[in-house]
Amino acid sequence: MADDIRDSRQAIQRGLMNRCPNCGKGQVFAGYLSIVRRCPDCDEPLGEYPAADGPAFFTITIVMLLLIPMIGFGWVLFRSDPLTLLIWLVVVTTLITLVLLRFVKGAFVGYLWAHHERDRGA
Ligand SMILES: [Zn+2]
Repeated sequence: MADDIRDSRQAIQRGLMNRCPNCGKGQVFAGYLSIVRRCPDCDEPLGEYPAADGPAFFTITIVMLLLIPMIGFGWVLFRSDPLTLLIWLVVVTTLITLVLLRFVKGAFVGYLWAHHERDRGA
């Protein structure tokens, strides 16, 4: 069963859109970030794929790459005082992080599913 080859790209795309990597119909998330134990459509045990810190790491990396141009453009375009710019950047980066984290976690679960990276209880 663990030998079957799964399409990583399709699994990541489905996970990104909050869809089960196996059937593409059921949802991956039960709430904001909690993963369903089993897909409601195909009964795939999605809860056994441990995303752990991976999605947070990738989200932080993406947000940090966006932050640098945001500081530059914010400074050049708006000419606001540094404290106002700081407050805006904190609000915007927090919102971007919260939105991105869910997409990245879904994609991560899709990737883990495609590579049979189940929780082995280590
Ligand atoms: Zn499914």
